Amino acid sequence: MEYAQAIAETFQDVVTSGSEGYSGDNVHNRNSLHYDGLAIDLRLFKENPLAQAQDYADAGYTVLRERNHLHVSYDPEGIRK
Ligand SMILES: [Zn+2]
Repeated sequence: MEYAQAIAETFQDVVTSGSEGYSGDNVHNRNSLHYDGLAIDLRLFKENPLAQAQDYADAGYTVLRERNHLHVSYDPEGIRK
């Protein structure tokens, strides 16, 4: 997720969650990609969240819009969050 972190710095996106914590701490799903260091959450703060998401999608990441944040992950299998 180093490249996603770099994109976040470039666009001044605020990373609210990374790989901290452990499976079972109830912050993310038990099998979340966060715990494998393969996902970050970003604060939605731009007027245009679609454009914000596109920055990461263009780089090959999976982007999901959650309630109040963007979940950006790298999952070649495409089956986990
Ligand atoms: Zn997430």
